[in-house]
Amino acid sequence: MKLGTHTSGGPTKAIGVGNKLGCDSIQLFTSNPNRWRPTEITDEVARKFRSDWAASSIDPILSHDSYLINIASSKPKILHQSRRALHLEIERCAKLGIPYVNMHPGAHVGAGEEEGLKILVDSLNDVLAKTINSSVSILLETTAGQGTNLGYRFEHLRHAMDRVEQQERIGVCLDTCHIFAAGYDIRTEEGYERTFQQFDQIIGFQHLKMFHINDAKSTYGSRVDRHENIGKGNIGLEPFRWLMNDPRFEQIPMILETPNSEEMHPVDLKILRDLEE
Ligand code: ZN
Ligand code: MN
Ligand code: MN
Repeated sequence: MKLGTHTSGGPTKAIGVGNKLGCDSIQLFTSNPNRWRPTEITDEVARKFRSDWAASSIDPILSHDSYLINIASSKPKILHQSRRALHLEIERCAKLGIPYVNMHPGAHVGAGEEEGLKILVDSLNDVLAKTINSSVSILLETTAGQGTNLGYRFEHLRHAMDRVEQQERIGVCLDTCHIFAAGYDIRTEEGYERTFQQFDQIIGFQHLKMFHINDAKSTYGSRVDRHENIGKGNIGLEPFRWLMNDPRFEQIPMILETPNSEEMHPVDLKILRDLEE
């Protein structure tokens, strides 16, 4: 399996961290995820990133967008800022040679799901059109559905995928903690199979480009987004054994976003590797 972790410290640190942990794939923030004003990627940083990457065995590298971005917002100022920030995120990825930016579909903040989905589609089309010659694709992440967040049903992602103009530039990331909190029960073999059958029917495995491999501190169906270390949460160890041995997912990067990363990412990686048969 293509295992890896989210890495902190941005483009200057990511590949070093990934190498040290023996990651097959990594995720990073290209800029501070809690700030609107982005850090620019200098030519020097991009050159170093690309040469370190070429010398490593890490592939692919994926980006996660800023936490502030909400391209489904019905509030004009936030919406405008979010579209602009996503546009710049795509440009930073292009400069670094990163093929995918993962993002949360966004929250409707009171306007209702139908309206939120409509704004999401308009935003995706806007940003994709502004970066029309870019080879960077957007991955929509399945969410826990906390608050007014969209993306907690596979149907939400399918709705957006059907309506974007550059469909070849949209994929999906499945977060195990999020889908579990959203009400997809993967704790039994039957539930695991049913969940992935639904995923394939509604979204299609060919659009699945990344997993976020997290256990859940939140309870089943709670729609609360709280990650836990592998085997220590409410999903438990067994479903991760099935995932790690599922031939359908051999080529899909599986990225850890578990808590206490510095201490626990090496531990969680080892747990997952030991589950591989
Ligand atoms: Zn995320
Ligand atoms: Mn995630
Ligand atoms: Mn989360």
